[in-house]
Amino acid sequence: MPNPGVPSATVGRLVTYLRLLTELEEEGTRTTSSDELATRAHVSAFQVRKDLAYFGRFGTRGAGYTVATLRRELRRILGLTRPWTVAIVGMGRLGQALADYPNFDLYDFRLRAAFDADPAKAGLHAGGLVIEPIEALADRVAELGVDMAFLTVPASSAQVAADALVAAGVRGILNFAPAVLDVPETVHVEPIDFLAGLKRLAYQMVRPGDDDAAVG
Ligand code: NAD
Repeated sequence: MPNPGVPSATVGRLVTYLRLLTELEEEGTRTTSSDELATRAHVSAFQVRKDLAYFGRFGTRGAGYTVATLRRELRRILGLTRPWTVAIVGMGRLGQALADYPNFDLYDFRLRAAFDADPAKAGLHAGGLVIEPIEALADRVAELGVDMAFLTVPASSAQVAADALVAAGVRGILNFAPAVLDVPETVHVEPIDFLAGLKRLAYQMVRPGDDDAAVG
């Protein structure tokens, strides 16, 4: 069970540490240290140790961490020791682009279904998938054992589509629609907002005098 006391920023860094450990393993490196992980992740060694300390003790003082062991532990903590079956709801521009991404399987995320409410899209091919009518969602989620979904519908349809996913038993939603979803506590929503990312970048990049040209 995930520990609700773990900050989401820590979870985000664990994902980064796992990627770095995979790189180290591919380079043939057998042991590493919080200093090395910190340098590669652009955080402090204290931060690495603090993030890992939420989950117990890893490595030995002075000797550092065994790359393979820490990598295995992080995969277990992050729930990545099993495959997850994924569907897309909303096969417009973004849904199509996600369906075209060929590498989800490499990471054990199995993209297996795509749904759209537009009857004209049913039967069309997208990536390796055939788009299915939204009416088929409940049956197909049960049949395929869909665990999580990309939600790529317009904001105005997001809650209806999320309700359908929840009713079908999907427990995780990666929500690209600019809408706050109302879901039961047992369902996890991860909002993805490119525009918010651009705004955060703009904040970081703002220079004195920039506001003279502001438009809103
Ligand atoms: P789009 O209009 O091209 O596609 C939306 C698709 O959803 C259409 O095919 C439509 O038929 C389908 N749809 C509508 N209601 C549905 C329902 N109830 N069930 C299933 N399918 C349904 O939109 P897009 O450009 O692909 O964007 C998708 C979403 O992602 C939008 O909410 C958009 O605002 C969001 N988005 C956000 C950002 C961001 O920065 N946050 C960036 C790009 C897109």
